[in-house]
Amino acid sequence: MKNGAVNLVDLPFPAYVYDLAGLADHARAIRSALRGAELLYAAKANPDPEVLRTLAPHLDGVEVSSGGELAHVRKALPDIPIAFGGPGKTDEELARAVAFNVERIHIESPRELIRLQRLGRAEVLLRANLPFAVPGAVLTMNGPFGMDVDALNECARRIADSPGITLKGIHAHLASGLDAPALLDLAKRMTAWAVPWLRGHGVTEPEINLGGGMAVDYTDPESRFDWDAYGAGLPQGRLRVEPGRAVTAYHGRYVTDVLDVKTTRGETYVVLRGGTHHLRTPAAKGHDQPFEVLTQRSAPTGRATLVGQLCTPKDVFARDVAVPPLAPGDVIAFAMAGAYAWNISHHDFLMHPHPGFHYIR
Ligand SMILES: *Cc1c(COP(=O)(O)O)cnc(C)c1O
Repeated sequence: MKNGAVNLVDLPFPAYVYDLAGLADHARAIRSALRGAELLYAAKANPDPEVLRTLAPHLDGVEVSSGGELAHVRKALPDIPIAFGGPGKTDEELARAVAFNVERIHIESPRELIRLQRLGRAEVLLRANLPFAVPGAVLTMNGPFGMDVDALNECARRIADSPGITLKGIHAHLASGLDAPALLDLAKRMTAWAVPWLRGHGVTEPEINLGGGMAVDYTDPESRFDWDAYGAGLPQGRLRVEPGRAVTAYHGRYVTDVLDVKTTRGETYVVLRGGTHHLRTPAAKGHDQPFEVLTQRSAPTGRATLVGQLCTPKDVFARDVAVPPLAPGDVIAFAMAGAYAWNISHHDFLMHPHPGFHYIR
């Protein structure tokens, strides 16, 4: 089904269902909350072409992290500005970025810069990895990502001697899973350091890309990152953000039906068609995926573990959760399956059929 209403209980299961109308409203609201800070979308959260085309009118650009994503986004959205980042870029990928005339390349190391210098003209941000403490983060992007001040200084010196390369600013994707106050605190510290550093290297309009990482709370499907507080609290300057998860997580559902219900050694298991080879998010993040039983309206009466069809004990959507009485044929919709879901899953493990994809417009 491509258009109009989607009757969720009548689909061939399993099925991904994307609410594109809701996604467009959400993206519009994010952009207006940002009050002029630019909004890029991190394609790795969900590169579905329909999702990309729905978001595009509300974006200033798309951030890609590989040559594959670059080619994919260029094909889906031929005119959108692209920022190309990611560690471990190959010469082929850098050459493709130059040939595609991407708007920005995010440089991860002095050696990467030297390789780019040989390839042609580019406008770059240098990815910074500064020793800022990030309390409360789900993931902290230190380790191999970006450069310390010595390496940043080396890059700035090399760019000064390199007419093809223009230094536009600093890129800083520092952590993920942060709320608005924590991200604003980081944004202020980052701009306070980066703006004078960039001016000192002759950049007249310093641009700071503050990255993504806006929190998504899987225990509370109704909660949202506070984009209004974030937009209102951002420091002055030429800023851009590149969220992924907080843009698309809420507008995808994975809908499937019950194949079996059984009690084994005191534990009740609900076996669903499909599994974490389609929706890896709960296994990857170690959470219970929020869900709704679409075929029954009664209140939960017991507890069960919702599993898929894979021959591994890790194939769990939600563990020991409250459920209404369930029987084969009941339909369950997992919510918050619009980001890091299908595209991070090991689709071909066990060779079950792939899900269908449906779009509500
Ligand atoms: C993954 C990533 C993002 C998006 O992160 P979210 O947590 O999905 O918002 C943005 N920028 C970079 C460089 C990334 O690697």
